[in-house]
Amino acid sequence: MRCKSFDCKEAGAHDHEPIPRQSEVGLLCAICARRILEALADIELMYPELSIYAQQQGQQQEGKRGKLSGSPALIRLDVLAMLDFNANPGDGVRSIMGTLASWADCVRDDLGLVTSGSPIDILRTWHARICALPWIDDYWDEVTELAGMLRRATNQPKPIGRCFGRATNKGCGRRLYEPVPPETAIVCPDENCGRRYDGAELVKLQIQGERDRVGSRIA
Ligand SMILES: [Zn+2]
Ligand SMILES: [Zn+2]
Repeated sequence: MRCKSFDCKEAGAHDHEPIPRQSEVGLLCAICARRILEALADIELMYPELSIYAQQQGQQQEGKRGKLSGSPALIRLDVLAMLDFNANPGDGVRSIMGTLASWADCVRDDLGLVTSGSPIDILRTWHARICALPWIDDYWDEVTELAGMLRRATNQPKPIGRCFGRATNKGCGRRLYEPVPPETAIVCPDENCGRRYDGAELVKLQIQGERDRVGSRIA
């Protein structure tokens, strides 16, 4: 069976169009299944910071008499919508926690769970079984999209590719992010790996990342 995620494409096929990878975790391949967990971890990490970005400071310049002039702070409506539990979906912007809570409700219903806990806890705890549910494609799409929305709203660096350290066929596989200037290198944060990428290595990582994203976007 092939992975159900919308973005799944096996790279490196010469004789045919890219096709989804083999499913390994429920209806998903191992990489797409892991992207859900990574997206949930990213959301958990970035969400508490989000309110800071609701106000975007205008360019302020110091005037002649030491007074501040320039455009006043702007309220970012996209960020407010993400923070609002009851925000209606629109223009690709949704409530982060409202959306996760409605998925957690679906999980409780479909798995017949009587459990309380935060939406993220529920989605993480039941991850393997969620990957086998028929709506996994929509869920995958939405959770990775929420993480992408948060990353854009909070100016996080973009993912660049997956670590191919440790000289194994699959590499350590950890997702790596573009170096943040003035840094020009990145180091894999995996404690058993720690592979360093700069110069030609970084280019190799970029090329592999592109190949992994054939016809897809990375969240
Ligand atoms: Zn997949
Ligand atoms: Zn690594």
